Amino acid sequence: MTHQVHRRLAIGVQPVAKQDPEERKRNFEETYLGFDINSAKIEASRCIQCPSAPCQEACPVSNDIPGAFALLEEGDILGAASKFRETSNLPEMCGRLCPQESLCEGACVVGFAIRPDGRSEPPVTIGKLEAFCTDFQRKELAGYPLPRYMPEPTGRRVGIIGAGPAGLAVAENLALKGHACTVFELWPEPGGVLVYGIPNFKMRKDIVDEYIAYLEALGVEIRCNVYVGKDITIDKMLTSEGYDAVFLGTGAGVGNVMGIEGEELEGVHKATDFLVRGNLQPDQLPEHLREPLPKLANVVVIGGGDTSMDCVRTAIRLGAENVSCVYRRTEAEMLGREEERKHAREEGVKFEMLTLPTRIIGDENGRVVSVECQRMELGEPDESGRRRPIPIEGSEFIIPADTVVIAIGYGADPIVPQTTQGLKSDRKALIQVDDTGRTTRPGVFAGGDNVNGADLVVTALADGRRAADAIDAYLDSLRG
Ligand code: SF4
Repeated sequence: MTHQVHRRLAIGVQPVAKQDPEERKRNFEETYLGFDINSAKIEASRCIQCPSAPCQEACPVSNDIPGAFALLEEGDILGAASKFRETSNLPEMCGRLCPQESLCEGACVVGFAIRPDGRSEPPVTIGKLEAFCTDFQRKELAGYPLPRYMPEPTGRRVGIIGAGPAGLAVAENLALKGHACTVFELWPEPGGVLVYGIPNFKMRKDIVDEYIAYLEALGVEIRCNVYVGKDITIDKMLTSEGYDAVFLGTGAGVGNVMGIEGEELEGVHKATDFLVRGNLQPDQLPEHLREPLPKLANVVVIGGGDTSMDCVRTAIRLGAENVSCVYRRTEAEMLGREEERKHAREEGVKFEMLTLPTRIIGDENGRVVSVECQRMELGEPDESGRRRPIPIEGSEFIIPADTVVIAIGYGADPIVPQTTQGLKSDRKALIQVDDTGRTTRPGVFAGGDNVNGADLVVTALADGRRAADAIDAYLDSLRG
């Protein structure tokens, strides 16, 4: 090891300021307060600039992390931010939302190195540095950086269905090439999961607002409250509405149901409905979700992924007295981030592991009063590779509940595949694409959760970027 590497490995990880659990339980502000300039520069200098950059390889959008940190370390924060923006449309969001421990930071050599004194240290805090630089840049510029020159219009029109991470990335990249983009969104505001899925304490919403303002400044048109497949079809867009190409980025927003007794009771919510009513203002919601949630006392959230953690932590902030997360396997099988479970525990959430809800019980007015559960033990691994939960006879017990939230995953809406000729999808309504994002219908492209199933913001973003290149090449081919 060179002297330089030794010196860098000797630098200790810089703590990131966080709200205290007792304080943050009472507000919806972001949990992390982020780096200050000095600690960000020191943290960036922990990067040993390894030429193979496994972090970059593990990043779905291939961010040039060492390149950005070399600039940040020198104090060129704007340069570092621009470096992240070369490969990512949403660096301030991915920096907050990616599960870095299984992506960039999970591959960071600094996290594996054993120092001469035997000390091990965590990897470089890549995500939070990415968010720091790009937040700093937006603050300096009072918004997202606009291109120096607006591109010449090409005369081509692209319809983008879904204003989530994939669709917005397609809109940005194609608008920057001069194509006229119109984004159609089902919900009252653009942003998709960034607005209607991610709670405010994980990412504040003004970042999304600024990004939308930037897209509009690029000439992107956004039409909300449009249900494509019902209000307008893809066939119509391509035949009589004058669109040259369409991108499908409708995500996977349909909450799965458990299929147990009592799911229809008053006080039982699907995860998204609960999250949006808890985190957003009524005017940001469709009519049927505008009524604020009633006062919560005993909340049971069913499921063990990140969405469940979002729900339990929202319930705590809404003042619930007892909040339980019920999960049928053990923590070792949970798919979400450990950090989120830690935050939830710090905020007072109780975990009922190895527990399966068997019935939701209501009173004579049809309102939920409790959840009947059964204890489980783990058997042999199932098709997912995780150990299968097996019910323990006679272990039934009751958890009192005035609110139950079902957070057991999401599926895709089948309406677009059902109403679009020549578009192939599977039995889960996931759209078939090639590796550039081209579907089986000429001129129609797709990417994100409606192709992959429910996945990460950054994978949807990567799909959107790839599809934008394919759409641009397709539009170019129309000229010949
Ligand atoms: S986009 Fe995600 S995976 Fe890539 S560097 Fe940023 S935080 Fe890491």
